[in-house]
This record gives sequence, structure tokens and C-alpha cells, in this order.
Amino acid sequence: MILRIFAIAAAAALSACATAPKPEADVPEWRLVIHGGAGVITRDGMTPEKEVAYTAALQTALEAGADILRNGGSALDAVEAAVIPMEDDPLFNAGYGAVFTAAGVHELDASIMDGRDRNAGAVTGVTRVKNPIKAARAVMDKSEHVMFAGEGADRFAESQHLEIVDNSYFDTDRRRQSLERVLEEQVRQAADRHGTVGAVAIDSQGNLAAATTTGGMTAKAMGRVGDSPLIGAATYAENGVCAVSATGHGEYFIRVGVAKTICDRVKLAGESINEASRVALGEVAALGGDGGVIVIDGDGHYAFEFNSEGMYRGMIDASGSETAIYGDE
Ligand code: ASP
Repeated sequence: MILRIFAIAAAAALSACATAPKPEADVPEWRLVIHGGAGVITRDGMTPEKEVAYTAALQTALEAGADILRNGGSALDAVEAAVIPMEDDPLFNAGYGAVFTAAGVHELDASIMDGRDRNAGAVTGVTRVKNPIKAARAVMDKSEHVMFAGEGADRFAESQHLEIVDNSYFDTDRRRQSLERVLEEQVRQAADRHGTVGAVAIDSQGNLAAATTTGGMTAKAMGRVGDSPLIGAATYAENGVCAVSATGHGEYFIRVGVAKTICDRVKLAGESINEASRVALGEVAALGGDGGVIVIDGDGHYAFEFNSEGMYRGMIDASGSETAIYGDE
């Protein structure tokens, strides 16, 4: 059973949850939490080999971010570093191995947010930048804008000397078969119809950050924008409040404004991150959607919440790491 810390005091409205005293033992020096997508992930649909591979890939991502945090690096650098190996791993629907659009190509989305100043960067519908999260980071750091779309986003990434690949670089047989199945309407809710990767972190200075990156949903229409690149829908970070990365059926997460809803409930209503996440996901479910979130608060307490069968997920801090996949863990 993954360690869950439900330690935030339920405070009266407007009392800042993040400033409520917390037991020392629950306050980590730094902490990183990741997800590799939520959906129809069941033991029946998994082989032992796949389970081992996913667990190892989650561990690699955790270690990539932890390397930064344990050396005093920033939460922002850590969340970017954690998702890059997942973008490069075809097990996940982000970067290499991303799902196909209905037109048989790849359109990728990513966003990143720095809780220190709520600076943010995002790209949507990129087709040529190898690591969309790096493009999102460059938008934040190197432009005066928050979001670039399509060809403009690819050209911006190119101008920042990010690695550019042919769109076919993202192809994998597994995702092509998913596309064929979805197009044939054999499996409308295929386990690999969607998936996304994300990370949230708190660094040793108490700064929060969040990152989310995805290929979107299998057979999505050309130009469709999901929640992953949208600040406030799938990604949000504000120091002293919380950092969120979401995964799920993006249209519903956009309509609810999931990430911002969670942070606002923590900040304004004094709810714990678990309570706030359940409310937001409840709103998603009420509209007919499913998915999950990872959240970390201003003191480093964390939450995994999802209303799908499973969610690839993991946590690492100075005292160790944990990963989990299924809903009953
Ligand atoms: N939220 C992503 C999207 O709708 C997909 C996912 O997270 O599974 O594009």
C-alpha cells in the first residue's frame, strides 16, 4: 500500500492550509511525485513483464528528478528532469511512443509551471520537437509568452536549438494498433486510448513546480487540444499552496479546471489536498469523465487520487521511494 499522508488540518475558510502547523515527521526535505497516466489499468490486462517494465521506468523517472533535488536543485528542474525519461520511453503516451491522431500522425502537448512566481510555459500540437516538455520550459524561460501552438511552437523550439525529429520518430507499432482498434470502434475505452506523464515536486527551499506532457488521446481530431498543455486544467503550481499534474479524459478536466480548482480549494477553503482532489475529480466524474491527479502541498504532503481503474505513479524523497499501478494498492 502506497504511503498516503492525510496530515493537513481541516482549517476554517480562508485560513491558509499551507501555513497550518504540521507534524515535523511529515515534512520532507524535498519530495517528487510522478504519474505515468491513468486509465483502464488492471491486473488482468497486465503481464508480469509489462509490470516490471513500468515499475522500472517509473523508478528511472523518480531517480532523474531526485538527483536534482538531493543536490539542492530546484523543483522546476526536477519536474522537467523527471518527465524527460518518460517522454523518451515508449511505454508512456508522451514523446516517443505517443498515441496517433485520427490522421495517423502525432500532435503533442506539454506544460510546466513554477510555483515561485507562477511563471508558466506550454506548447500544444507540436509535431517535431523531440521533448515537448523542453519546449514548454523554453517558452517559459525564453519568451514573453505562456503558450505556443502548432507550427509556431515547433519553430520556436527549433530557434531554441532543441532537438528536432521527424514526426515518424514518435511512431510505435503498439500505438498504431491502438489507433486501428479505436478507428474500427472495437475498443472505445482501450487501456491505451490515453495516458500522459507528469510530475510535481517540492525542493529544499520549499518551492513547488508541476509538469505535464502527453500525446493526447488516440484518434483525436486534428487540432484537438486536451487539458495537458493548459495551465489550470492539468498543470498548476503556487508556492505555499500546492502543485498539481493531472491525467485523464482531457475535455472533462478542461471543463472543471481541475488543477486550479484543487489549488483554490486548498488555498481558499483550507481543504487538504486529498479532499480538494476528491472534490475536483468528483466534478469530473459527474460530467462523465475519469482520470487522476498527483498533488503536493506547500509542506510536501502528497496525494494520488484517481477515479479510473489504475494510475502509474510513484514518489521519492530523502527516505526512499515507492511506485504503484493499480487501484487497490
Ligand atoms: N489528458 C490527456 C488528454 O486528454 C490524456 C491523458 O491524460 O490520458 O489529452
